[in-house]
Amino acid sequence: MRPHALIFLGAPGAGKGTQAREVAKHYGIPQISTGDMLRDAVKRETALGLAAKARMESGSLVPDDVVDGIVAERINQPDCANGFILDGFPRTISQAQFVDRILAEKGEGRPLVLDIEVTEDLLLKRLTGRRTCSVCGEIYNIYFNSPKVEGLCDRDGGKLMQRADDNEVSIRQRLEGYHRQTSPLIEYYRGQGVLLSLNGDLEPEAIAKGLLDYLSKA
Ligand code: ADP
Repeated sequence: MRPHALIFLGAPGAGKGTQAREVAKHYGIPQISTGDMLRDAVKRETALGLAAKARMESGSLVPDDVVDGIVAERINQPDCANGFILDGFPRTISQAQFVDRILAEKGEGRPLVLDIEVTEDLLLKRLTGRRTCSVCGEIYNIYFNSPKVEGLCDRDGGKLMQRADDNEVSIRQRLEGYHRQTSPLIEYYRGQGVLLSLNGDLEPEAIAKGLLDYLSKA
């Protein structure tokens, strides 16, 4: 049986969002991306967005209680009743303990944690080369998957943008934060016997196939 909660863990640029999207589509359960929810709040200039903007752009984490709050609210929506995927959350031990408490309160078992491991210089290329279509959100990479016409989306001709935190200084800060605050979660979940490590250097399709095969047998 598929666990109620699937958690994607991995450094910035590891491909958590890409894999989470595939698994969400396959099982028809929601993908909860704290990064996407926060970026949306910044765009809409809500109180949450205004409070989070500077930290996000500099590549620091948003405070635990703020992120815990938006995740708790999202998980309580009816579409999460049959399970959900967390992408980019938890990122600190305190957030992981918060997820444990929520699952215990709901009477659900332990999550399955999918740790995507990627070589550091590949991470840097993925982050510095990433470009996103301002119209449809399609993701390109100037090193690995460039559009046919520079700066424009192949699908709809939309202008390709770089995320505000995909600059060199913020990227360094995000990677440092990952090593210091998030990577301890690997041992935390290994200790609970719920960790599955994936080779994130592979092509996205190959990772997704391996993962869906594993889940179908789990
Ligand atoms: P990435 O993994 O590429 O750094 P995300 O889109 O997951 O990007 O997150 C972007 C930013 O949003 C983070 O750098 C951080 O400021 C904020 N954020 C996202 N998830 C969390 C979280 N669980 N806890 C604290 N801050 C978060």
